[in-house]
Amino acid sequence: MPDKIKCTVSNCAYWENQMCKASAIEVNVDSGDTEAQSDSQTQCHTFKMKS
Ligand code: SF4
Repeated sequence: MPDKIKCTVSNCAYWENQMCKASAIEVNVDSGDTEAQSDSQTQCHTFKMKS
């Protein structure tokens, strides 16, 4: 896993200074399929709302 993951989701508990600080993340295709048809069809499922 890369040690630097850039992320723009600023209201995630793991987000800090444009980067992800989680030890691991899970990313899935929105449809539940295993192949995305475009770059807008994937999202991070490790997202946790910042309190
Ligand atoms: S867990 Fe996902 S949404 Fe949250 S900072 Fe990391 S990459 Fe971004």
